[in-house]
Amino acid sequence: MTKMEKVKNYINGKFHNPLQDNWIENYCPANGDVYGLIPNSSKDDVENAYIAAKSAFPTWSQTTLEERSRILIKISELLEANLQRFAEAESKDNGKPISLAKSVDIPRAASNFRFFGNAITQFSSESYESVGKNAVNYTLRQPIGVVGCISPWNLPLYLFTWKIAPAIAAGNCIVAKPSEVTPMTAFLLGEICNEAGLPKGVLNIVHGLGTSTGQAIVEHPDIKAISFTGGTATGAHIAKVAAPMFKKLSLELGGKNPNIIFADCDYDDMLNTTVRSSFANQGQICLCGSRIFVEASIYDKFKTDFVKKVKQLKVGHPSNNDTNIGALVSKPHLEKVMSYINIAKKENGKILCGGNKVTVKGFENGYYLEPTVIEVQTDECRINQEEVFGPVVTIMTFNTEEDVLKMANKVKYGLSATLWTNSLKRTMRMSNQLQAGIVWVNTWMMRDLRTPFGGVKASGVGREGGFEALRFFTEAKNVCIKY
Ligand code: NDP
Repeated sequence: MTKMEKVKNYINGKFHNPLQDNWIENYCPANGDVYGLIPNSSKDDVENAYIAAKSAFPTWSQTTLEERSRILIKISELLEANLQRFAEAESKDNGKPISLAKSVDIPRAASNFRFFGNAITQFSSESYESVGKNAVNYTLRQPIGVVGCISPWNLPLYLFTWKIAPAIAAGNCIVAKPSEVTPMTAFLLGEICNEAGLPKGVLNIVHGLGTSTGQAIVEHPDIKAISFTGGTATGAHIAKVAAPMFKKLSLELGGKNPNIIFADCDYDDMLNTTVRSSFANQGQICLCGSRIFVEASIYDKFKTDFVKKVKQLKVGHPSNNDTNIGALVSKPHLEKVMSYINIAKKENGKILCGGNKVTVKGFENGYYLEPTVIEVQTDECRINQEEVFGPVVTIMTFNTEEDVLKMANKVKYGLSATLWTNSLKRTMRMSNQLQAGIVWVNTWMMRDLRTPFGGVKASGVGREGGFEALRFFTEAKNVCIKY
């Protein structure tokens, strides 16, 4: 067996074994081997991280914005300088193609730090003159204190830093936990933070299971805000635990996003983007358009062209540059996705392509699955209503704008929606009525970090991104002065 890579907790600027010396095995999705050990941190490890964060807070919260900005931008530059190393680690830990880690995950993590390093210097608050009353009001935006950040496995460093960067920029100190399924790049980030001169204790990273380490962060009475991205059931549980302590909560949860295609769209652009919005990152992106609705007049053509393109996607080892679809993140997740394909078959879904595990030569125990397209007759079947979070999409036809709008909105989720049309009037009508936090028209996952990001209904509470994130990580205090 190759040497075990040992992840450690990052507390007060130093790397520590878990206090009770308990470890969890870390699997490589590409070959199914255990390749590392992760701390199975206890409540006491979380407490040590909290103490470090609490001690760092008085100084960090008073550090000038220019200095915070300088450090955040330095972290961004160091991530860029270490692109290859981080991309390899992300790909090995998660199973995603190295090309994706290199072009999306790590560059975006670097952008998160650069963006919030700049944004904090532009963050301002309101002031109102109370005319005729000889009074003026101004609002202070003060950091909260010690905050908790908990992130999932699908875009590990990308989503971890999407929380950490604004929290630090706003002057908070952090106890953070990445998913135990993908801890490696969060571990490497500690070194980068030290090199960039981030003062010890500002960021503390504790590894372990959600149900123990994550739970200890949420239960901690003095961790005053929790920023969480993950599944809807976990989000509901966290909300229940946090509510009696009146914690501030930001919850970015699951999705079952509609991709609505009208006959008047730019067909080739739509087709290429739809392949990407269906299967990027093995379909394990909360924003993937997993329910495809196609206007009846182009349905047959779309079905033929789409299936042909999907069959051309290359499933393979994540480290090959020509791999389009890598490995799913874990064995239990692969089994969950397969179980949904079986549910779809029982519901009379027609498998147009895919549906089977793939054996990649030399990596027979890896978690590979064919990209799968299922034709359904009704939008109400489980495969069309429940989040699969894998390389599986459904397609079905529609006749009118009213019908498709009804079907698009008839799920419990409301994260994002994609619309393909060249009609301006339809765009405006539908964008107004789609129940989603984000609507993309004639594109998918085009991000501008200044925009609000989040969902409605069971897809979450609150918004991240731009000044929304800085507002979440600060408390507003109004001061009224009579003169
Ligand atoms: P989970 O909800 O299982 O886990 C998310 C994080 O929460 C992990 O770090 C997990 O730890 C931790 N966790 C689990 N239980 C608890 C608990 N009781 N208390 C505190 N923390 C806990 O989600 P997945 O990691 O499986 O991620 C996939 C889900 O994330 C999908 O539903 C997807 O849609 C959603 N997601 C939403 C996004 C959005 O922006 N709306 C973006 C990306 C994903 P551990 O993994 O170690 O158990």
